Amino acid sequence: MIITSAKLITCNSRTTIFTDGAIVIKKGIIHAVGSMSNIMRQFSDRKIIHLQNALLMPGLVNTHTHLELPALLYTLRSKTFPEWVLNLIAAKNKLDNKDYSTAALNNINALIQTGTTTVGEICTHGISPAFLKRSGLRSILYYEMINMEPKGNGQVSKNLLSPGKDPVLVQSGLSPHSPYTVSESVLRNIRKAAQKRNIPLAMHIAESKDEIRLLQRKSSGLERLYQFAGWGLDRAPMGSSSFEYLNRIGFLSPNLLAVHAVQVTDKDIGIMQKKKVSVAHCPRSNKVTGVGRMPLKLFLDAGIAVGLGTDSLASAPTLNMWDEMRYAYRIHRHDGLTPKDIIFLATSGGARAMGMDKQIGSIAPGMKADVIAVALPAKNTGDLYSDLLRETKSCIMTIVNGKILYPTDAFKPV
Ligand SMILES: [Zn+2]
Repeated sequence: MIITSAKLITCNSRTTIFTDGAIVIKKGIIHAVGSMSNIMRQFSDRKIIHLQNALLMPGLVNTHTHLELPALLYTLRSKTFPEWVLNLIAAKNKLDNKDYSTAALNNINALIQTGTTTVGEICTHGISPAFLKRSGLRSILYYEMINMEPKGNGQVSKNLLSPGKDPVLVQSGLSPHSPYTVSESVLRNIRKAAQKRNIPLAMHIAESKDEIRLLQRKSSGLERLYQFAGWGLDRAPMGSSSFEYLNRIGFLSPNLLAVHAVQVTDKDIGIMQKKKVSVAHCPRSNKVTGVGRMPLKLFLDAGIAVGLGTDSLASAPTLNMWDEMRYAYRIHRHDGLTPKDIIFLATSGGARAMGMDKQIGSIAPGMKADVIAVALPAKNTGDLYSDLLRETKSCIMTIVNGKILYPTDAFKPV
């Protein structure tokens, strides 16, 4: 299959923009990329899709979601992060499996229609895996664990980690929820299992000041969570910071995606750099839960792999990565980040943060054919990335592994 478009951006280190570009997809892989005239000359016998007034680019990588959660944002209304956590627990007590299933289905459709092709999903209720496996999206399914047993072993079920029928698209991982909801003993065991079997890990780390205060044994709003869960405060982890504590117990590694990472010190950034920990940056969620602003520029300057994530509809108004990118640009432009930097975070940056940059996140021969088309911006200011960021609301075509997922009934090759 050949797809042609008015513009094409590759989002790799060459950062090529093709005017009248084209890609060739063969068996789920990008076979060739270049100018339309060159591609048509070399591969003229293939099926062709001509996209008018469109731009082709790599599919977006949404590094952090909870797709089982419905739109709870406006019912949670909380003043502090601990209050938000407790309100979320109370709201979830009113939901049943049907609510989670409906949410997973709607949320996955929203991802596909807005151009996400790979998702880092935290599975809590066991509902999202079946929907994701059916959807055709690429994903890492991080199975969530909450376990404060002081001597818990955190045994990992082999069934849980079986990718099912589609190991090409669905990878299994684990998500010990946070340093304050999983005991040291369980974390050590998860680390061992992950190392042995090369399992990707994701964890909410250093999200709020309350988390840091709990570790420092200062009064913290999270004491109410411990009370609610029936955990003695003596079970809380101890350390000067979350990253210092996790480093001390040997939990940090390149396999770990640290979600949020807002409350970090310079020393923490040094630790993350040394241990090659990646970061999922969820700026809109951080704003809603009032935890603060992640020091994105410092992470990037330290060479830390950062991707963007929408988080769930309990802390973000949409799962649309274009909304996330616009907000990220708004708050980080003053640090010198450009629209291009932000679009790279949502593509190749996310791929690197999830350990998948050899396969996805950019358009180049040999990469998986995860590609989207969006409408060409109406206004041309001379900065294509800026125009894209300003105007794009959704996409007009989503392809994962060479298969057109959206729209379902159009763009049949001629
Ligand atoms: Zn989360």
